[in-house]
Amino acid sequence: MRAVMDTPRDFLAALRRGRLAAGLTQSALAQKVGCKQSALSMLEHGSATAVSRETLARIADAVGVELPPEPAAAVLAAAAAAPPAGFAFCPDFECPTNMPYFVGSELLLLPLGSAGAGRHCAACGELLERACRACGAPVRRGCGCCTACGAPLVAAPAAGFAPDPRAWAAERRAAAAAFSKAFAL
Ligand SMILES: [Zn+2]
Ligand SMILES: [Zn+2]
Repeated sequence: MRAVMDTPRDFLAALRRGRLAAGLTQSALAQKVGCKQSALSMLEHGSATAVSRETLARIADAVGVELPPEPAAAVLAAAAAAPPAGFAFCPDFECPTNMPYFVGSELLLLPLGSAGAGRHCAACGELLERACRACGAPVRRGCGCCTACGAPLVAAPAAGFAPDPRAWAAERRAAAAAFSKAFAL
């Protein structure tokens, strides 16, 4: 049989389709193959280094998809290759690529950037942004607000969105720290 997939993207899409066809949630599949749900999510969004070769083989086996003949690492690395130049960030405040912080009582988000994802966020699949929404100025790594106009790059959630915004922020910071470690952001 010819390699099932023509491109790494096809392969990753097939993994996802296979999982859905098997009636498995990401959590259920992750548990079955012994990886984290977040790693599986990253993998399905095209992140090359989300899981080990062994785990990838177990995932493919569990959802009935044939591994491409080439070393999977090379295949997946190609999937994540060549992101457009410049700093890109995810506009979703709940995404683990955005680190919540407080200035006084104001909740702000620091975009860590999205590694190896091309046009879409490696963590959540959202379309990435590269400029300030308010003024269009290019954005810089390490800034939560636009250096030209001061607008927050990632819109914070509305007041009252969580019963305890500081507890919410602490939880999201832990997720962001784990994500940035996994992706060396
Ligand atoms: Zn995201
Ligand atoms: Zn601006």
